[in-house]
Amino acid sequence: MIADKMVTMVKGSSAIRAMFEEGKRLAALYGAENVYDFSLGNPNVPAPAEVNEAAKQIIDEQSSVVLHGYMSNSGFEDVRAAIADSLNRRFDTKFHEENIIMTVGAAGGLNVILKAILNPGDEVIAFAPYFGEYNSYVSNFDGKVVAISPNTETFQPNLTEFEQKITPRTKAVIVNSPNNPTGVVYSEATIIALADILNRKQAEFGTDIYLISDEPYRELVYDGAEVPYLTKYYANTVVGYSYSKSLSLPGERIGYLVVPDEAADSADLLAACNVANRILGFVNAPSLFQKVIGRCVDVPTDVTPYDRNRELLYGSLIDYGFTCVKPEGAFYLFVKSPVPDEKEFVAAAKKYNILIVPGSSFACPGYVRIAYCVAHETIQGALPGFQKLAEEYGLK
Ligand code: PLP
Repeated sequence: MIADKMVTMVKGSSAIRAMFEEGKRLAALYGAENVYDFSLGNPNVPAPAEVNEAAKQIIDEQSSVVLHGYMSNSGFEDVRAAIADSLNRRFDTKFHEENIIMTVGAAGGLNVILKAILNPGDEVIAFAPYFGEYNSYVSNFDGKVVAISPNTETFQPNLTEFEQKITPRTKAVIVNSPNNPTGVVYSEATIIALADILNRKQAEFGTDIYLISDEPYRELVYDGAEVPYLTKYYANTVVGYSYSKSLSLPGERIGYLVVPDEAADSADLLAACNVANRILGFVNAPSLFQKVIGRCVDVPTDVTPYDRNRELLYGSLIDYGFTCVKPEGAFYLFVKSPVPDEKEFVAAAKKYNILIVPGSSFACPGYVRIAYCVAHETIQGALPGFQKLAEEYGLK
C-alpha cells in the first residue's frame, strides 16, 4: 500500500504531464505533424553549440576521477565562482562562490530551499496563476501554500490581498517572473511595493520572511523588457535559477540557488541548503553539466525563434477574437477560455488535435495555457483549428 499522501499526489498528478502523454498517443494515431502539442514547456530551440562543444572538451580534457567523483554537496568551487562573477558583472551584485549552491534544476533548488526553511504548518505565499508543482514541493515539507487571487487585468501580483494574507506563520513568498503561465514580467514598481510590504510585515510580526525568486525564464524576454534582480530590492531574497529554458537543457537537470550574505541567518541557511541537497538524495548537481555551465555562464539565449512564435500566435489569436495579455517573457500565452469551464474548451481544442493545459493547473480556472516553445510550423498548422474554435464559440 503506498503512502496516504502519495495517493492524493498521484490522483492530482500533473494535467500538463497527462496532456503530454496524450500528445504522444495522438501522434502515433495521426502522425506527429498533424498534432499540435502546446502542453509542455520543453524548449524546441536546440542547446547552443557552445554547450555541446564544452561537454566534449571537458570529457576529453579532465581527469575522470575528478569529473565523475563525489564533491562538496554545494558543487564545484570553480563553477560557483564563475556564476557569482557573471551575476556580479550583469547585475552589479557582490556575490562570492559561497553564496552559490549548484542544484538539480529549479525543481531541485526549490525543494532544497523549502526543506531548509519550513517547519510543519509554515505558510508559503504564491501569486495565482502559479506553477502547480509549488503545491507538491511545499507539501513535501508539510508546509501550506497560501494562494493570492489573480489580477486578471494585468496578471501583476495582487498586493492588497497579499498584505492581508501575511501572518506570523508566513515563512516564504515565491515569485516567478517572467511568469509561467502568463509570460508577464513583474514590474520594478511591483517589486518595490512587494518588498515594502514584506519589510513592514517582518517588523510587525518580528519574523523572517524569505522571498524566493524562481526565475528559470529570466533570459527569455522580448521587446527589451527588464527583469529586476530581486536581491537588490529585498535583503531576505533567495534566487532559484535553472538552465532548463535559457540553454535548452531541461533533461540535464542543472541550476543553482543564490543565498546572499544579507539574507537572514545566511550562514545557517547556506549550511542547511548544503545538507538538504545531500539528504534529499540529490547529493550534488550533475557534475559534467556543472563543468559545462562553468564554461558557458555568459552564453546568450537566442530568443528569436520564440519571439517569432509569440508574434504569430498572439497576433492571430487576438484577430480571431480571443483575449490574452501580451507576454513580455517566457514562452507561454495565458488565454481566457471562451466558456467558464476551461476544461470544456481544452476538450474542444483536442478535436482539432490541439493540446493545451487548463488554467486550474495553475490555480487560475477560466484560462488556458499555450506553450509556444514549439516549431514555427506547429503554430502555423494549429491556426486553422484555433480559428474554427473561435467561430464555434462565436468570438467574432
Ligand atoms: N519553476 C517554474 C516556474 C517552471 O516553469 C519550471 C519548469 O517548467 C520549473 C520551476 C522547474 O524547472 P527545472 O526543469 O529547472 O526543474
